[in-house]
Amino acid sequence: MQKALVFSWDNKHPMILTKHHHVSQLIFRHYHEFAAHSGREQTLCELRTMFWIIGGRSLVKKTIMNCIRCRRMNVKPMEQFMQSLPEARLDEYHPPFTFTGVDLFGPLTEWGRGTTKRWGCLFTCLQRVLSTWK
Ligand SMILES: [Zn+2]
Repeated sequence: MQKALVFSWDNKHPMILTKHHHVSQLIFRHYHEFAAHSGREQTLCELRTMFWIIGGRSLVKKTIMNCIRCRRMNVKPMEQFMQSLPEARLDEYHPPFTFTGVDLFGPLTEWGRGTTKRWGCLFTCLQRVLSTWK
């Protein structure tokens, strides 16, 4: 590695730090945010271009677990608690519009070339309404 031309001086001779020092934690947090809050290995790879933190993996784990943004992005969604179906839904099957409600309204006058009257008629399937009344 000493004769490798592709590596810079910092790559060949990284600064050695301990994981317990506050500066090490600040440096690691900087690289973690620089790497767009990536995972352990990516952050360590970015960090090791210039620094070598002894026991760095445990520092990585601790820092990522305490990073609020990573915790928010990696949280598991909660599962919805489903209640059992109401008894009305478990009754025998009736096809839709077996029980029907009818609403009539009008007249609505329409003004244009002449006067016309319109009536409306709404058909409502009462099966769901009746099942909630039980
Ligand atoms: Zn993060």
